[in-house]
Amino acid sequence: MSDKRDYYEVLGVARDVDTGELKRAYRRLAMELHPDRNPGDAVAEDRFKEASEAYQVLSEPGKRAHYDRFGHAGPNAGFGGAGFRDVGDIFSTFSDIFGDIFGMGGGARRASANGADIETRVLITLAEASSGIAKEIQVLRNVPCATCGGSGAAPGSHPESCEHCGGRGQVMHSQGFLMISSTCPVCRGEGRLIRDVCTNCEGGGLDQEEDTLQLTIPAGVEDGSTLRLLGRGEAPAQGGRPGNLYVVLRVEPDERFERDGADLHTEVVVSFPQLALGDRIAVSTLDGETEIEIPAGTQPGETLALTGHGMPRLNGRGRGDVVAHLKLVVPSSLSPEEDVNLRAYAAACGQRVNPQRSGFFGRKKKK
Ligand SMILES: [Zn+2]
Ligand SMILES: [Zn+2]
Repeated sequence: MSDKRDYYEVLGVARDVDTGELKRAYRRLAMELHPDRNPGDAVAEDRFKEASEAYQVLSEPGKRAHYDRFGHAGPNAGFGGAGFRDVGDIFSTFSDIFGDIFGMGGGARRASANGADIETRVLITLAEASSGIAKEIQVLRNVPCATCGGSGAAPGSHPESCEHCGGRGQVMHSQGFLMISSTCPVCRGEGRLIRDVCTNCEGGGLDQEEDTLQLTIPAGVEDGSTLRLLGRGEAPAQGGRPGNLYVVLRVEPDERFERDGADLHTEVVVSFPQLALGDRIAVSTLDGETEIEIPAGTQPGETLALTGHGMPRLNGRGRGDVVAHLKLVVPSSLSPEEDVNLRAYAAACGQRVNPQRSGFFGRKKKK
């Protein structure tokens, strides 16, 4: 004879229970008897094993039919209801059930909170973006409290696991068929309680510290480029990983240039004679001014490139160009001498230009 209780009785269900209700009944019991919620309670643990065994048999149609026919005393007794070695066995057997009730692995602790990421901004000039630069930055960040080592408990004491939620930080309520999980009101989701609070961090386990970091900004970064410093964000409250530090680089605009990737575009004002006759002109680059040759007969708006004088490419493949856009500017007023000579030039081209407005009545600057 078996001294085992009837499986239907163990789960508190009728003999004609359907599989859905069977599963709900087991979940309700498992919730109530779960070792995490009954630490050190051997009776609860035995009942938890008993219920798990009953559910294991009754949830499989073949085993259930066998059990219905023969009960515990039938042939092959102990076939599937041999019991579980330990609760870990149960969690792995019914991971589909415990996975969604208790989080992976059933007995798993509340996932520890990782530290938050920090974002900071660093302003650099275009020249600094071009050359690359080492910068020292200050970041205010959370670090583990030096007094309590981050535990939040006064030196010499330890945080205790919250008895109300079994250290999970969450409590379950059933409403009909729904299991509702909510933050434990006793520990406020922490899963632990600190009786003797560290006076330095007031139990938070964290201190703020201004951290000085050496930043190496590579040559060629663009406005908005972000450097990620792994693990240099906020320290975690407990157990988790520290966050990352993101440094967003803002490159100050340089009024001389418009940047397009590695190329720098700049405008150079030229006169008609410079374009017509050709000239050497000075073009700004980030390293100072460089002379460039305008060939005779160049048209307004044409561009001349100073190859390799632009920004370095981040992939290390050389530098871009400085592209000079030639902008023809027509004088808004002419001296008498200029006026006379320009007319002579026009006449030489066979043109008679605006004969009424000659000499001292030349065009005046617009107001
Ligand atoms: Zn502390
Ligand atoms: Zn709690």
